Parts: sequence; structure tokens; C-alpha cells
Amino acid sequence: MAKKQFKAESKRLLDLMINSIYTHKEIFLRELISNASDAIDKLYYRSLTDGNTGFSRDDFTITIEADKDARTLRIIDNGMGMTKEELEKNLGTIAKSGSLDFKAEMENKDEIDIIGQFGVGFYSAFMVSDKVNVVSKAFGEDQAYEWESTGADGYTIKDVGKEVNGTEITLTIKEDTEDERYSEFLDEYKIKGLIKKYSDYIRYPIQMMVEKSRPKETDGGEDEKPEYETYMELETLNSMIPLWKKTKSELKDEDYNNFYQEKYYDYADPVKVIHTDVEGVVSYTALLFIPGKAPFNYYTKDFEKGLQLYSSGVMIMDKCADLLPDYFSFVRGLVDSQDLSLNISREMLQHDRQLKAIAQRLEKKIKSELLAMCNTDREKYVEFFKNFGLQLKYGLYEGFGAHKEILQDLVMFYSSQEKALVTLSEYVSRMKPDQKYIYYASGETTDKIDKLPQTELLKDKGYEILYLTDDIDEFAIQMLREFDEKQFKSVSAEDLDIEESKEEKEEAEKQAEESKDMLEYMKEALDGKVAEVRLSQRLKSHPVCLTAKGGLSIEMEKVLNSMPTDEKVQAERVLEINAKHPILETLRKSYESDKDIVKDYAALLYDQALLIEGLPIEDPVAFSNSVCRLMTK
Ligand code: ADP
Repeated sequence: MAKKQFKAESKRLLDLMINSIYTHKEIFLRELISNASDAIDKLYYRSLTDGNTGFSRDDFTITIEADKDARTLRIIDNGMGMTKEELEKNLGTIAKSGSLDFKAEMENKDEIDIIGQFGVGFYSAFMVSDKVNVVSKAFGEDQAYEWESTGADGYTIKDVGKEVNGTEITLTIKEDTEDERYSEFLDEYKIKGLIKKYSDYIRYPIQMMVEKSRPKETDGGEDEKPEYETYMELETLNSMIPLWKKTKSELKDEDYNNFYQEKYYDYADPVKVIHTDVEGVVSYTALLFIPGKAPFNYYTKDFEKGLQLYSSGVMIMDKCADLLPDYFSFVRGLVDSQDLSLNISREMLQHDRQLKAIAQRLEKKIKSELLAMCNTDREKYVEFFKNFGLQLKYGLYEGFGAHKEILQDLVMFYSSQEKALVTLSEYVSRMKPDQKYIYYASGETTDKIDKLPQTELLKDKGYEILYLTDDIDEFAIQMLREFDEKQFKSVSAEDLDIEESKEEKEEAEKQAEESKDMLEYMKEALDGKVAEVRLSQRLKSHPVCLTAKGGLSIEMEKVLNSMPTDEKVQAERVLEINAKHPILETLRKSYESDKDIVKDYAALLYDQALLIEGLPIEDPVAFSNSVCRLMTK
């Protein structure tokens, strides 16, 4: 029979599976069992909603058969089955549920990443098999089909006879090699162990004939030693109780971690597990996980948020987005409630009051757990924040501050004093007695911000500054406006309100008055580049800095202009000159004796300020020439 070809990307995945060096090859069994369970779920769900399929829950089983001589392992289910078209489509192409763009991702990921992050499903069978044979009959169809493949060179499909609906997968297990003992996957003890480890919670019985022993019936006297005989018996290998239905005291961290890794294809443990039972107007059990690492596509449009939704143990939706606000979209897990109707449709769910009530409680719960982690296990929280903090900050910005109450306690920024991430309440608790504002400075990196002239004096006077390094930070802060009744203030703001003596103030005013004409002259010389040139008391050792008037800061200008739109914005720039720096004296003298050179100086100082801010200077050649002119004077 002519072989059909796999689609290109399937072929690549297959190649990868066949030649896999992945050390957890055993996961193939859980993948196949989980597919079987899904197929039964589909049929069971249909029987519940249609009511005329004639099935009851007890009719469903997954059967495992191992034959050491033939080297075959079979996984048999009586679920939904597949039509010929479905066999082609589901097993001939990678039609990964949802939006996983496998093709693009595969180029630059290593094997562990792919297996870990995608959960390769059916194809994982090829990690342990030379040949995979699938016989399937779809529910309600008369004809069954056989799909078979020995690997990347293609597959065949033909008609076969099969009585009942469902799927039988027969793996011909590879021969042992020096490094790999494939035979163990035919071993009863090993199979039992794998099912306990990975598939215990599957809600249908996973059955296998297992060898047992019993005392032989004897007719001898009392002191005769009992003899044993072995016999085969069908045994259910899994407990069938979903993990979340077990009592918390029964469960160990390891159980949660295994469940999480297996269900969400993550190879890292979650940083937090939330297992909660709520009784009330709406009763539900939720099992939530906060991943230890952001999924590779987390900050892309491909990422789909949502929790699995169960109604009394039956899955009714795989990704219910309405259960999670965007700012907590990183949470994975499930909700099981007896108060939700099985027949509920996606559209109806959106308006479902019970669902809304659950979502609200979950949001509060997630927040309180995060907060507790922040207060009791800082290291873990910082790790969490490095992965998902950006999302929390987007959350602050996106709702125009509407989610402030939930998020403001959870965000962290780098502190000039602590040299670490701190929360806003920690900052406030350290504020000086007469300090009115929460000071912040923004820039590309904490190192660069630390060198900004604007931060020097504040630090010197013992004020703590928050260093904002993410693009979203300053926008988020603006939405927040204040925290604990303390307003935020940029170190570049006009009035920093730092301690000043009366004499200092008078001196500053006097200086400003004396320099007024010269500053105006410099502004004219800069020809529209700045809205103002002024003297600054905020600087310590640096001669100049660039700040902005109004709501748009220079950092925000950079962020907005880096976006792919044609519209460019410009902050209202202000050139500040250090009133305590000798340069002011030089400027004043020159203004008296040689006004022209002040023009040169103005241009030079402006360019210097641009450089310090990390902005390009408009005419580097002119800048260089000016410097040389001064050097040769
Ligand atoms: P996934 O399960 O992540 O969608 P798989 O590669 O494991 O990916 O399976 C692809 C598809 O093949 C499944 O989505 C399902 O539609 C179908 N399938 C696999 N195994 C079975 C089975 N035992 N019974 C019915 N359909 C199955």
C-alpha cells in the first residue's frame, strides 16, 4: 500500500521523537492514556448532554495489555474514536490544540524545551516504539480504520473490522540498546508504577491483567507449609480520584508538583500551589498553580489565559478565560463546581453570575497568597516577580488605575538604598519624617539611573529613590498617582521639595534673578530645542541635566517613540544648569564679555545633557568641532 506523507512539521517532530535522547521517555504512556481519557470524556459528555447514547459512566475503561514475547504494549479505550478523516488529520499533522505555533518555535529550542513545553502527545509513542498501530472506530460510524507508521517515512490507512467504538493503540517496543532498556515498558511492575505516578487521577479505570498469587488449596494437615500459586486478575491501577478531590492532608508537595508538570507540560515546579475548597452560595474547589517560569510565549499574543472548568468532575471547558483577570493570566489550574450546569455554552458562561462570583473570589485568593509569599518567602517572591511582575505592572496601567487596590501591594521596584527590589509599602515605611513624596527615576538600567546627575543630591541627602527600568513602569506609576497618600515624584520634576534652609532658598532665588537674562539668551540660542533653560539646585557635582516639563517625561518619550507608529512625541525639554557648579561662573563672565561664545556653550551643554540621558545628539560633528575649538583656545 502506498504510504502517505506526514506534513513537514510533523515529520520534524517525528524525527526528533525517534532519535530522542530525552531522558523521560516514560511520559509516552501518560500522553496516550491522557488521550484515551479525553476521548472517553468526549463521549461521556455527549451521553450526558444528548441523553440518548445509552452509556453510563461505568461502561468506560482504558485497558493496558503488555506482551513481552511479541514486544507489544497496547492501550485500548472505548471512547469517541476517530473517523478516517480524523485519523489523517489528528495523527498526520500537528494540530496542537490552540495556537502553539510549533513551526516557528522548533527552530531554536532544544529537545527538552519542546517536550517540556509542548507536551508532544501522540508522537511521543515513537520515543519507545519501532512501529505504532492505531485501530479506531468513531462512535456512531460503521467502519473502523487502521493507521500504521514505522516512522518519518509516512503512514498507511486501511479499512479494518472492529466491533465497538474506541481506539486501540499497539506499540511495538524498540529493542534494548546499551543506554536504554526499552523492555521495562513491557514490565508489569514498571507499568503499574508509571500509572500511579502520572495517571492516578484519571477518572476512568485503567485496567490491566496482573499476576497475583494465592495460597494453594491443600488437603494436608495443619503443620504443612502453605504453597502458593499464581493466577491472573484484572486490576484497576489508578485510584480515579481527581487530585483536587483528595483531602489536602493526604497530599504531598510531590503529588501537586507531579500533577502540575504533567498537566501543564512544565519541567519546573510551580512556585506556589493554591488548593482551596469553598462552600457558600457557589461552592467550588480550585487548584491553582503559579508557574516557576514564564512560558516562552507568555508575553506574546499567542498566549492564552484561562483555567480548566469542571462541573462535578466532568470537564466542560479547557480554557475558561473569564475566570482570570489579565493581570493574573499566568495562573494555571482548574475549578470544579457542582453549581455549574453541564450544558452551559461558552456564550452563556460569560454572563454566568456564579462564574463571576467564583472569579472574584479567586482573584482575592490569588492576591492574598501572593502577598503572603512576598512577606514570608521573599526569595521566592522576587523570583516570581522577575517572571510575571511585568504583567502586574501592565495591569496597573491598563485599567487606568482601576485595579490599583489589587495590584499596588504586589508590585516591586529597585531601591537605591536597599539595592534590591522593594515594595511600595516598604519604601513608605522608610520615608524621612518630613518627606512628602515617593521619589523615582527612570532609565534603561539601574546602573545608568544610578549615575544620573538628578539622583546624586537626593541620595546624598538620604532620600531613597525607586529606579524604574521597564518601559511600562513610569506609565504605571502615573496611573497609580499615589500610594498610601504619598504622591510619586520624578527626580526630574521641577520642585523636589527636599530639605532646604531659608538661606539656601534666598540664595537660590537671588542667583536665578541674576542669571535670568543669560538663561533666556541661552534658550534663544538653542533655537526651540528646549522650552526653558534654568538653574538647578538638585544637582551636586554634575554641571547639567535634561528634564521635562508637563506630564511627558524624557523616558516616556523614548518608550513611545520606540513603538512602531508614525506619530512621534516630544517631551517639553528643560536644560538645567547646576547653580553650584563653577560652570555657572564661567557662563556669567562670558555673557558679560563675549556673548557669542555663550551660544557655543549652550549648544555644548545641551549635547552633554542629551548624552547623559542616553539620547542621540543631533549633530555629532558640530559637537566634536565645538569641543576642539575650546581645547585649542
Ligand atoms: P493533543 O492530545 O495535545 O491534542 P495528540 O498528538 O496527543 O495531541 O493527539 C492529537 C489528536 O488525536 C487529539 O487531539 C485527538 O483528537 C486525537 N486522538 C489521539 N488519541 C486519541 C484516542 N485515543 N481517541 C480518540 N482521539 C484521539
